[in-house]
Amino acid sequence: MTRAVYPGSFDPFTNGHLDITQRGSALFDELIVAVLVNTDKNAMFSVEERQMMMREAVVHLPNVRVMAFEGLLVDFMRLRQSRVILRGLRALSDFEYEFQLAQMNKQLAPETETFFMVTDAKYSYLSSRGVKEVFNFGGAIQEFVPPGVFRRMRERVLPKRTG
Ligand code: ADP
Repeated sequence: MTRAVYPGSFDPFTNGHLDITQRGSALFDELIVAVLVNTDKNAMFSVEERQMMMREAVVHLPNVRVMAFEGLLVDFMRLRQSRVILRGLRALSDFEYEFQLAQMNKQLAPETETFFMVTDAKYSYLSSRGVKEVFNFGGAIQEFVPPGVFRRMRERVLPKRTG
């Protein structure tokens, strides 16, 4: 049984993340989508909120689990008995960071392998940061995120806009 881990911040989970999750779930017996618990004060959603929205978005994928992890990814991998790290690659600009991360994880845990999945062309421009920026300036983000994420982002501003 091959269990892979797809780690990230997912603040918020976009259609690009969902695409990687779906394609990954077809390749591995089990896929854990793991939200990194970090202390980013600029985060839009708490780790609990992110997990809730992600669970809703992947409900149709029975071999996908959503979890949170704190600290080193390689420690989480060992705890969950997984040796495969799944990451997505968009443009060349992702490569340098992802390459360093993969090398670092290899040094820390030689048993791990990082698998890169190239983005679907229609999501190549999509990032959580971009979605938040468009949203904060009042732009339409419906096409960029799963319906549950869209709903919660809208709910978040409604009290402010009507108040
Ligand atoms: P991190 O904060 O670790 O960079 P993100 O939540 O931004 O995490 O992304 C998690 C992973 O998903 C990364 O490997 C990132 O490159 C990948 N990813 C993000 N957006 C897309 C997309 N639109 N298409 C493919 N992969 C993506």
